Amino acid sequence: MRIVKSKRDLRALVSSWKADKQEVGVVMTMGALHEGHLSLVGAAKTDNDRVIATIFVNPKQFDNKADLDAYPVDTDADLKKLEDAGVDLVYLPQAEEVYPKGYSTTVAVGTMQDCLCGATRPGHMDGVTTVVSKLLIQTSPDRAYFGQKDFQQYLLIQRVASDLDLDVDVIGVPTVREGDHLALSSRNRRLSADQRAIAPTLYKVESTIADLIRQGEAVDHVLEWGRKVILDSGFDRIDYLEVRSEEDLELFSDVADRDNLLSGRIFVAAWLGNTRLIDNYPISR
Ligand code: AMP
Repeated sequence: MRIVKSKRDLRALVSSWKADKQEVGVVMTMGALHEGHLSLVGAAKTDNDRVIATIFVNPKQFDNKADLDAYPVDTDADLKKLEDAGVDLVYLPQAEEVYPKGYSTTVAVGTMQDCLCGATRPGHMDGVTTVVSKLLIQTSPDRAYFGQKDFQQYLLIQRVASDLDLDVDVIGVPTVREGDHLALSSRNRRLSADQRAIAPTLYKVESTIADLIRQGEAVDHVLEWGRKVILDSGFDRIDYLEVRSEEDLELFSDVADRDNLLSGRIFVAAWLGNTRLIDNYPISR
């Protein structure tokens, strides 16, 4: 496995693969890798001749410095996991390589970004779409893999790739969960034992809401029930618990017709102490 830190070395290697007509897949991460990330690598390995993983904790997507400072870093363990998973190349740039002095361009999507995480984390989505655009241009892959765990991010990146005519397939990979259904996340490492026991409530609430909506219950009513269960279980605060279209994130309420509702997805973000967890779940499972 090659590890490169500069755009120049990255491009040289990718160009040599392309000259040999090899197809390239990329998986972008912020490190602190777990089985969720490795499932993206697995999908990329299946579809491509070569797989690139990037590790970059992108300062532009953190709206809160304390969250950035607390973000777990474990590069040696990450590199071992990527090597064992059969990654060909790891791109590990420093912040100055991605945002050199004078850097001043932002890639901002005009739709789907004012809601959910975009509404509660100012600047976050622009930070994500900017860095992903740059990494797509730098790695020039045939396919790029994103987790459906960050569903809004996945939709926005599809939009960017389409709008900017990037010649890449953006592929969404299903969420990997623990045995008790908690979605794997680098942030789970920060949970105390008590918080870890509370965290799977998000999945329980989402899956129950999906059942109830399928059975014909009113959306607003079940969401109100869900908010209460989440707070009663010990979560400190809810940023959102909503049902939205999985095509364009349009907000669904009781006026939406039932067929439409079945193509909806439940989205949740909630805080346990200083740790913010997110998840989403399709209504028609
Ligand atoms: P992150 O390092 O958290 O920025 O995530 C890097 C990529 O891994 C993103 O495309 C995430 O959506 C994806 N990812 C994170 N957690 C999971 C998970 N539990 N299952 C599947 N993909 C995930």
